[in-house]
Amino acid sequence: MDCIFCQIIAGDIPSYKVYEDDHVYAFLDISQVTEGHTLVVPKQHVKNLYDLDEKTATHVFRAVPPIANALKRAFAPIGLNLINNTERPHQSVDHFHVHLLPRYEQDDLGIRFTNNQASHEQEDYLAILEKIKENL
Ligand code: 5GP
Ligand code: ZN
Repeated sequence: MDCIFCQIIAGDIPSYKVYEDDHVYAFLDISQVTEGHTLVVPKQHVKNLYDLDEKTATHVFRAVPPIANALKRAFAPIGLNLINNTERPHQSVDHFHVHLLPRYEQDDLGIRFTNNQASHEQEDYLAILEKIKENL
């Protein structure tokens, strides 16, 4: 298995383990984009969000709030982002993972949610909704 996260879970590659249970492994991202940057991964190899089954998703996301609260207590961030990169937007490891990124006043993590509400009419939302619902 040439998956780097599977090797970390197996202990073949060292990691700074934050948390572990039967189904989930969490460890410090080697690149601390912000202080406390933690990755939470299923022990089962799943490529990305598109392939995540219900049980595995439950296992992973059940582990997230306690770790988030530990990061909150440890570093007193101004908040936290939970990020998953699936495919083109920067998925560099093909083993599903969520990033927990504590946020700080002066960090350089550039995530921008521009409010473009004024440029959308009701029909735009309905057209988008229709496309999604056709595919659910
Ligand atoms: P992605 O870009 O796929 O969303 O995130 C992959 C993350 O894995 C990156 O933030 C990268 O720093 C981290 N990473 C890659 N290789 C290793 C490793 O060997 N050990 C640890 N702890 N993190 C890694
Ligand atoms: Zn893997």
